[in-house]
Amino acid sequence: MAGNGTKGRGGRKGGDAPPDWARLLERRMDPGLVSLDPTELELYDRDAAPLPASAKWAFKPRPDAVVRPKNADQVRKVVRFAIKAGVPIVPRGAATWGFGGAVPNNGGIVFDLQGLSDIHVDRDTMTVIAGAGAIWRDVQDLAERRGYMLPAYPTSAPGSTVGGWINTGGVGVGAFRYGGIDRQVRALRVVLPNGEHVRLGFDRVIPNSSGYDIKSLIIGSEGTLGIVTEATLELQPAPEEFRPLAAGFPTSKELGDFVQLLARSRITPYHISFYDSSHLSNLEQLGEDVPYKGGLVSLVFEGYSAMVGWEWEAAAELVRRAGGEVASERFANTTWDEHMFDLRVAREGPTLLMNEVFVPLSRISEVMAGMARIINSHNVPGGIVGTAASRSTASLMPYALVDRRKWTTFFAFGLVDEFAQLSIDLGGRPAGVGLWMAYQMPELHGKSMEAMVAIKKALDPKDIMNPGKLVHAVSKFDIELPAAIMSLGTKSISMVHTLLSDSGRRKRDARSTASKSASEATEMVEEERAEDLEEERATMEAAEAGIDTEPGDDSEGTKEG
Ligand SMILES: Cc1cc2nc3c(=O)[nH]c(=O)nc-3n(C[C@H](O)[C@H](O)[C@H](O)COP(=O)(O)OP(=O)(O)OC[C@H]3O[C@@H](n4cnc5c(N)ncnc54)[C@H](O)[C@@H]3O)c2cc1C
Repeated sequence: MAGNGTKGRGGRKGGDAPPDWARLLERRMDPGLVSLDPTELELYDRDAAPLPASAKWAFKPRPDAVVRPKNADQVRKVVRFAIKAGVPIVPRGAATWGFGGAVPNNGGIVFDLQGLSDIHVDRDTMTVIAGAGAIWRDVQDLAERRGYMLPAYPTSAPGSTVGGWINTGGVGVGAFRYGGIDRQVRALRVVLPNGEHVRLGFDRVIPNSSGYDIKSLIIGSEGTLGIVTEATLELQPAPEEFRPLAAGFPTSKELGDFVQLLARSRITPYHISFYDSSHLSNLEQLGEDVPYKGGLVSLVFEGYSAMVGWEWEAAAELVRRAGGEVASERFANTTWDEHMFDLRVAREGPTLLMNEVFVPLSRISEVMAGMARIINSHNVPGGIVGTAASRSTASLMPYALVDRRKWTTFFAFGLVDEFAQLSIDLGGRPAGVGLWMAYQMPELHGKSMEAMVAIKKALDPKDIMNPGKLVHAVSKFDIELPAAIMSLGTKSISMVHTLLSDSGRRKRDARSTASKSASEATEMVEEERAEDLEEERATMEAAEAGIDTEPGDDSEGTKEG
């Protein structure tokens, strides 16, 4: 698929001069819609994950133009222009995803969609209609003000967009009870790669058997099949009560046992999240009071008060049965209040290297132990944050805290791949693909990849919609990146980092042994000095009192002069 009429398109070959097509785009579109300012373009060459400088050998992440549409018609016009010019398009929400989906592989036009931010609630259909660039927390606030609640939202709700979460097939808060975003979307408005603005699905009723479900194809397509401009999302009535429960566990083993017991029971919390011991100690480093050291689970129940009370008590009983301890209501409330800020530990990094994977819920203790081993082998601080995405699936976010400014950090990027590989080995998968994981797709999907590539070709024959992502990993040279090379590359850099960490650890151990002996020696000298001083003082006092304290005087007590 690489090539596909794309050779030589996009990218500025050097310097900051915009390509001719970009100047033409700026002239043709509404004033202020297109930016070619090099400083601004620089800001669009990354997402939440830090981009290793070396990635620029393979990709050209800086776009040639950024457009910031305020309405769907502007999106449609720029897409039509891009089709004619054969220029790649990269849709972007708030760039809080870390898989590089909103980062160009070879320049082109980035669509910053945050200007499509209208939101309104339709009481008649119990839906909220939100622009693709609307921020989740704003959608949630409006729904609550109208007496509803969102069935699910990402923990990045304070900053991420509706279009971004739809395109990453999001699973987040509320998924245990109501499912992910796929269960919430009733209809989408999308500009397809042929420049048509279409409605997919039905605003007022569910679709079931009414033709191919193209709307569902868009969900989780990571911006490779079209630009979502608006979504109609289902709402739930607001609950009578919302009640959190927190529980501490001695180790990840008991924590895992509890989550499984809960998932196999009839109890249905709205949300279940959990944190391993390393994450808890990272929170302590931030100065937070964490009474549980081995592992923590946070649940929240919602609905009629009577039901909530019953489920809360039943879950507390399971906590005790699994060897855990139910925390105070105050601690449970504080933990729940922080649920959108789990990754505040990044302050300790300052760079957060993370991955997100889905694994069978029955294997969470095993996966968490494996992830902890990976983090330890790299000798970096890290931790694991997880949620129960359903009764059978856990979503785990392992992370490492590193310093991007250090040269060795480049090699730590291999960690991200190790987390993904571990999940695959244990029956799971990475939670996203984007730019970085596209090479793993054939291993994950086997023969069905052919059908996926065929769908992409049918809808986007010119391969202009977010090229180089999801169905194929393609470099800026329009060369498909073979899985074997990508995998070998990430494995080698990971190995180098482990070796570097190992020698670093040995040096540190040696230094600490040396400094320990040095400090022991200093302590001995100080003790001797203190004893001498004490002796001197005693001799002086004795002399003043006329007492003989010379060694060899074996008499007890004092001698009267
Ligand atoms: C602290 C933190 C917590 C998170 N918690 C969760 C969580 O609970 N659950 C979860 O699933 N994820 C989570 N994420 C990942 C991420 O925040 C979500 O996937 C988020 O919804 C992405 O939205 P965004 O606006 O930032 O999208 P972006 O990062 O901008 O884009 C993501 C992908 O979607 C495409 N895209 C964006 N907008 C459009 C559009 N309108 N049309 C077509 N394609 C589009 C992009 O091309 C890209 O491939 C978390 C991330 C962080 C940093």
